[in-house]
Amino acid sequence: MRVGILDIDTKKETDGFGRKAKYPNIACGKIYGYHKLQGDEIIYPYNGEKVDRLYISVIFTATRPMILRMLPYWEARAAEILIGGTGWDDYSRHPYTITELPEEIAAIPHYPWTYEMYDIDYGIGFTTRGCHVGCAFCVVPKKEGMEEYRETTVTDLINPRGKHLILMNNNSFAHKDFFQDIEEIKEHGLSIHWDQANDITLVDDKIASGISGVNYRGFDGKKKQLFFAFDLITKKKIDPETGGTVTYDMLKVVPEKVKLLNEYAIPSHHLVFYMLIGYNTTEEEDLARVECLRSLGCEIYPMLYRDLNGRLGVDGRGKPQPFHVRALRDWINSGVYRKQAFKDFDRRAKHLRQREHEELQISLF
Ligand code: SF4
Repeated sequence: MRVGILDIDTKKETDGFGRKAKYPNIACGKIYGYHKLQGDEIIYPYNGEKVDRLYISVIFTATRPMILRMLPYWEARAAEILIGGTGWDDYSRHPYTITELPEEIAAIPHYPWTYEMYDIDYGIGFTTRGCHVGCAFCVVPKKEGMEEYRETTVTDLINPRGKHLILMNNNSFAHKDFFQDIEEIKEHGLSIHWDQANDITLVDDKIASGISGVNYRGFDGKKKQLFFAFDLITKKKIDPETGGTVTYDMLKVVPEKVKLLNEYAIPSHHLVFYMLIGYNTTEEEDLARVECLRSLGCEIYPMLYRDLNGRLGVDGRGKPQPFHVRALRDWINSGVYRKQAFKDFDRRAKHLRQREHEELQISLF
């Protein structure tokens, strides 16, 4: 059998500063491993060759229209096409349409196949999945569930070619085995990158001490970096113990927790906060978050809200995003926010004029 694997979004992944990074697709690693074990011929990267079966993995919903446009081209080249991934799923209404790998492929551990397929010298994967927080803008609770569960161990994920490990856990600190992960990271002398935004509300003495005892790094294993989320001004979540709702005033919680991390010798400039913008906050609230993080000396990684169908430009209620959102992202990403007030940033005025012009057009017709 001749099999093609198209990980359409893999090379498109960019960080908040616009740099491109290769981000292995572990579902494709499983597909690769399964067909290797079957003795099949695997075409990767796939570039339109004639194949018996073509797998297309879609991570980002924004890629979906392109897939639909290209489908006739691929249909002419592949006897069978299987498309799946978070970007292909539909979370717009119940019941959600969630694509799954065929059972026999899902059962294959993605390591070490992912490492061979992408020719990488670091380990990558999940030791735990799921997240109890349930943010409405996030696909994780819908796809992975609202309870953290164990997937595999740090030791299993080690790539024999290197000492760097990337964990994509949805909420690392929330699972009791976080401390077992810490022990294994230390035992094997690994550098560790927690790739998803960690939950700052969960940081306590034990967690801060655990993190400070390991060699935490950015994705590429170079810079000392830890990633957290500051997505909302008020964060609410269900307490897994009591089932009740807990509310956090994040403008108070973030400084407290940053101070605690500092006490465990984790300096503020190692801390990068993902900041969701355009979902449900006002310009004043966004500026308050920026000022909070700037004054603490933390890095900011703005993330423009996109709804679960990949639509840009709308807020969490489906209404047009406030005009300031894109300018705010540019103000932060360019670093100008460190020396110039947002009201004086020229792109803010440009976006305001644009929005006024659009509103005038609508009122005329
Ligand atoms: S805490 Fe993070 S992973 Fe969990 S639901 Fe919220 S955004 Fe998603």
